[in-house]
Amino acid sequence: MSIAVFPGSFDPLTNGHLDIIKRASGIFEKVIVGVGNNTSKAALLTPQEKMTLISTVVKDLPNVEVAIMKGLTVQFMNEVGAKYIVRGLRNGKDFEYERDIAGMNSALADVETVLLLAKPENQNISSSMVKEIGSMGADNMVKFVPKAIVEALKERLNAQKK
Ligand code: ADP
Repeated sequence: MSIAVFPGSFDPLTNGHLDIIKRASGIFEKVIVGVGNNTSKAALLTPQEKMTLISTVVKDLPNVEVAIMKGLTVQFMNEVGAKYIVRGLRNGKDFEYERDIAGMNSALADVETVLLLAKPENQNISSSMVKEIGSMGADNMVKFVPKAIVEALKERLNAQKK
């Protein structure tokens, strides 16, 4: 069975991430969204919160699962029997970053990275931009984030201000 892991910080999951998940679910027999911990980024949501929110969003995709990943992506992949890593590319900066991680991962284990290009309408969406405009009170967040996530995100951003 072709099993792919889509690892990321997903702080929060955006429409760009969701598009990659949907497209990957049409390519691989199983896709596991791996909620990781990017040590260089301070997180707004806890891994458990992310997992709950993402699970709600992908509930209608039968071959998509969500899991919390600890440690290296390749270690997690070994545990779940996955051979493919899916990542998204928005621009040249993403490409350089992804090329380096893909190189590291293939040196660490027998895995293949599959890079999917972001749709033009998602190219400018990033979790950090979403948090920034959300914290300033933008009211049309559904343009960037799945509906099921908007409320939880607003709540968390408001709590952070207090
Ligand atoms: P990480 O901290 O591991 O980079 P992110 O949650 O920021 O985690 O991103 C996970 C993956 O999703 C990365 O490959 C990133 O390039 C990709 N990605 C992020 N935003 C988008 C988007 N708007 N469209 C497509 N792919 C995206």
